[in-house]
Amino acid sequence: MECWRKCDVLIAGAGPAGLATALFLVKNRPSLAGRIVAIEKSAHPRFKVCGGGLIPKTMLALDELGIPLEVPAVEVTRGEAATPVGGVDLSRGGDVLCTVIRRDRFDAMLARTASEAGVEIVQRDRVLDAAQGAGGVRVSTERGIYEGQVLVGADGSGSRVRRAVFGARKETIGRALMTDIAVDPERTPEFTGKRYRFDFRCVSGGINGYSWSFPCLIGGRPHLNVGIYDQRPREFAEKSGEQSRMIAELVAAFPELPLDGLKRHATRWHSFPIRWFDARDSYASGRVILAGDAAGVDPLMGEGISCAFEHGKLAANAICKYLDGDGSALQAYDRALHEGAVGAKLGKLAFAARHFYGPHYRLFFRLARTSRRAQEIAVDWYNGARHLDEVPTRRLITRWARAVLLGEPVR
Ligand SMILES: Cc1cc2nc3c(=O)[nH]c(=O)nc-3n(C[C@H](O)[C@H](O)[C@H](O)COP(=O)(O)OP(=O)(O)OC[C@H]3O[C@@H](n4cnc5c(N)ncnc54)[C@H](O)[C@@H]3O)c2cc1C
Repeated sequence: MECWRKCDVLIAGAGPAGLATALFLVKNRPSLAGRIVAIEKSAHPRFKVCGGGLIPKTMLALDELGIPLEVPAVEVTRGEAATPVGGVDLSRGGDVLCTVIRRDRFDAMLARTASEAGVEIVQRDRVLDAAQGAGGVRVSTERGIYEGQVLVGADGSGSRVRRAVFGARKETIGRALMTDIAVDPERTPEFTGKRYRFDFRCVSGGINGYSWSFPCLIGGRPHLNVGIYDQRPREFAEKSGEQSRMIAELVAAFPELPLDGLKRHATRWHSFPIRWFDARDSYASGRVILAGDAAGVDPLMGEGISCAFEHGKLAANAICKYLDGDGSALQAYDRALHEGAVGAKLGKLAFAARHFYGPHYRLFFRLARTSRRAQEIAVDWYNGARHLDEVPTRRLITRWARAVLLGEPVR
């Protein structure tokens, strides 16, 4: 028999964006426990194609929610980036640059925490459609009908909610593919040096992105997660076949790794879309808002977990106000995503993507290599370390100029 369920807040998708929204909602307003339903097509722990790199911004969000990271993780304190004009070494005096987890374990941890806090997660049910009227919003799923006051579309880059309510746009979808390789940690620089590696040389080959290699643990065993991101794969798809180009560039980036099997499909790999931020999009329509990949994340690196948490926090604040009778609160969420700290950061990353992946990429990579201090500020800003990404642009430029020109310490 078809189920019918009524609640206050409906969330499509129980990934980081949906779960962060739910967790911030019950944190802000404990009385919402039992009145939030998240609908998830899979069942946790479920596999998610992802490198699992958590930047410090995400760790701050977990702290804010009071959630200890109780899953196996590898901390990275150094980075190497190969670019078309030479290499860059990154470090912040031993500070953690990235914490690498596996998404099945991480998302399951978030789901468990949300369930314990009173969020109902309906698993193995897929959202098919969403419609809204004056009295509420109605979601049809494979197993029934759900009605609520507000709907959060947090169902990833292929969002059904987005398609149903906001219409489809495909030109802002990037793609990343990845594989995992078991390694001997004693002989692998990513483990011995606690480092991650990026390689942007594929930009010369026409890929708007980079290859990466992250140390990680799978079932307790050391592995490298390696992959490649292309912000605009459609440009290739029309010419030659996007994935074989991406695989060839990935193999070229890490020739010492046993990646040859990728070309022959002898080594298993996974590929998945990432929707990136475009300021022309809207994120609220009536009673429906979008969060995480469904809304659009970092265009430069394809990093999306910190965005999922940022969106979740803003969405929860807006929903609480909306339920209190502020009819403009969801539109204010849309404005915050465009004009607030997260919108400003994503806008700058979109600008950077246009230049680092544009026709004058050599000039921009050269500029990026000129000053060590400028690199440190860029890394802190990107990582959201010490909330640097929330500093207004003018103050940030002043700090940057003083650090680069006068040699003032970055902190
Ligand atoms: C190869 C690759 C590597 C990446 N590496 C990193 C990285 O290292 N660090 C980083 O920060 N980001 C990374 N990303 C991006 C990151 O994975 C996403 O930005 C992040 O998962 C977004 O979270 P989300 O909750 O918005 O979406 P998702 O994690 O996709 O969660 C959406 C959820 O909705 C569910 N769902 C989908 N459709 C429906 C439906 N119709 N009905 C019900 N449920 C549905 C899905 O099953 C899923 O659980 C990577 C992405 C890829 C592809």
